[in-house]
Order: sequence, then structure tokens, then C-alpha cells
Amino acid sequence: MSITNDTVVQFHYTLSEAGNELESTQGGEPMAYLHGHQNIIPGLEKAMAGKQEGDSFSVTIEPAEAYGERKDGATQRIPLKHMQGAKKWRPGMTAWVQTEQGQRQVTVVKVGKFNADCDLNHPLAGKTLTFDVQIVGLRPATEDEKAHGHAHGVGGHHH
Ligand code: ZN
Repeated sequence: MSITNDTVVQFHYTLSEAGNELESTQGGEPMAYLHGHQNIIPGLEKAMAGKQEGDSFSVTIEPAEAYGERKDGATQRIPLKHMQGAKKWRPGMTAWVQTEQGQRQVTVVKVGKFNADCDLNHPLAGKTLTFDVQIVGLRPATEDEKAHGHAHGVGGHHH
């Protein structure tokens, strides 16, 4: 089989920007996603379409097809109690914040006693990203996975 909508894809990837490795699943568990449900950035999902188990490829993705362009003035004051990921905050750290659109990552700019000024741009916004991908497993999605819009099991969601 090859990757089409409603395929659960298990893959290893190494993400780099300008030659610097940012993260990698190599040596750990592969990541799993449900194809055709915008679980991963658009540029990577497009590159995955039609690939088969065992395929390896490299793709470089512009910000518009990745995490978007950086927006100036996207700083907001957020109560510390709404920020998840650490007990003590310092500038440059990444926090998770619950919003009406779901959880999002923000970058701490300045920390006060009760609030922090946070940059709402995604930490990878404005960056051209290169993914070295290795497809390790493909299978059709279960009915549950299709209904939830994401992959279950190793590398996916656990309920
Ligand atoms: Zn689920």
C-alpha cells in the first residue's frame, strides 16, 4: 500500500534548520499520524502522499507550508497559572497554553510575579525546515481513528 487519506503512517524523522538538527525520533519510538487529517504540517503531509513502507526521503519546507511566517507584535500577557510545562519560568522557555483553538506553544519573553509576556508565534514560525523521513509502517486507520481524526497506538494518541 502507499500513503493515501486515512492511512496511519509510522515514521522516523530528523528535523533540521539551516543545517542544525532540532529534533529527531531516531533511536526512539517512531511517530504516528493519520494522513489526510492535518495532523502534521501541510508541506510534510504533501510530501508523504503516495510514499510506501521503507521509503526514505528528504524534503525542505518553506514557512508558509510549515509553521507560518513570524508575526510582529504577537506578544501577550498570560497568567502564570495558565502556562504548562515548567514550575519556574525564564525568558526563552517554551510553554503550553490552552486557547479556544486548543493547546498552543508560546515562547516566554519576560516573567513577572503573576504573569508572563509571551510571544505567540510558534517557535518554528518563519523557519525553513528540512525533514529527513523514513517510513517504517503503514496500515489502514480503524473506525475509531477516523472518527477521532488521529492515530492511536505507538507514536500516536493514548486514551
Ligand atoms: Zn483518539
